[in-house]
Amino acid sequence: MKCYECAREGKDTDAVGICIVCGRGVCKEHLIHEETPAWEGDYPIELKPDKEHIKRIVCVPCHEALKENCLFNEVC
Ligand SMILES: [Zn+2]
Ligand SMILES: [Zn+2]
Repeated sequence: MKCYECAREGKDTDAVGICIVCGRGVCKEHLIHEETPAWEGDYPIELKPDKEHIKRIVCVPCHEALKENCLFNEVC
């Protein structure tokens, strides 16, 4: 799988991870490895407090969206 963000910039980079939110491939420059709220099931996504504190991979646009929605404890 190729990095979706790199593809948008016209680059061809192999993905090293998959965003848990949108399922797109991300390279190491475009992935964010952070503790996120826990997801359960499919859409609509239900967010629950993350008791396990597992670091998950999200892509940059999804990370921005999560921050905007105040889902990261350290931001809000
Ligand atoms: Zn990339
Ligand atoms: Zn994503």
